[in-house]
Amino acid sequence: MQNKVTAYIGLGSNLSGPRMQVSKAANEIASISASRVVAFSPLYLSKPMGPQDQDDYINAVIALETRLSALQLLDALQAIENTAGRVRKDNRWGARILDCDILLYGNETIENERLTVPHYGMKVREFVLLPLADIASDLLLPDGTPVSLLANEIDNNGIVKLPLLK
Ligand code: ATP
Ligand code: MG
Ligand code: MG
Repeated sequence: MQNKVTAYIGLGSNLSGPRMQVSKAANEIASISASRVVAFSPLYLSKPMGPQDQDDYINAVIALETRLSALQLLDALQAIENTAGRVRKDNRWGARILDCDILLYGNETIENERLTVPHYGMKVREFVLLPLADIASDLLLPDGTPVSLLANEIDNNGIVKLPLLK
């Protein structure tokens, strides 16, 4: 078993009840072995990237303390995507039931066939930076960039933070 690290996971859905999909995914992430959820951001409603002929997305970010390796965590997240019924299609950034991306894994930089961490798009995606800054306002990326700086400077692209459900 390895040391504990805090990983940040970006969630997105725009099919089959996106709010329900994201909260269901959060519950499943909470039951990943050797791990515990330490923060769950508010939900955001964001515009799709790429093809515009699809519904808006629900996004959130989860902080997970874990002893799994990054690849074990990816396996667990892909199993959760598959259980939700995600079908991988050729159209990049097309509509999906559930996307679970590893944004950060501790302070590590990882580059292999299955994983690029930090997530290659996170610095330019408002639907990642805003929820991440909500739960980790003092966090620095492995290259030293403050998340809060990126979140303050990003074009918000019409994203809306949803009120907490009572
Ligand atoms: P994007 O990567 O632009 O957010 P996407 O999330 O829709 O697009 P997927 O189809 O979910 O892309 O994943 C494609 C592949 O990306 C996965 O099979 C996985 O091996 C790889 N991948 C590389 N880095 C990561 C990461 N940090 N988190 C999740 N998957 C990753
Ligand atoms: Mg993604
Ligand atoms: Mg993905």
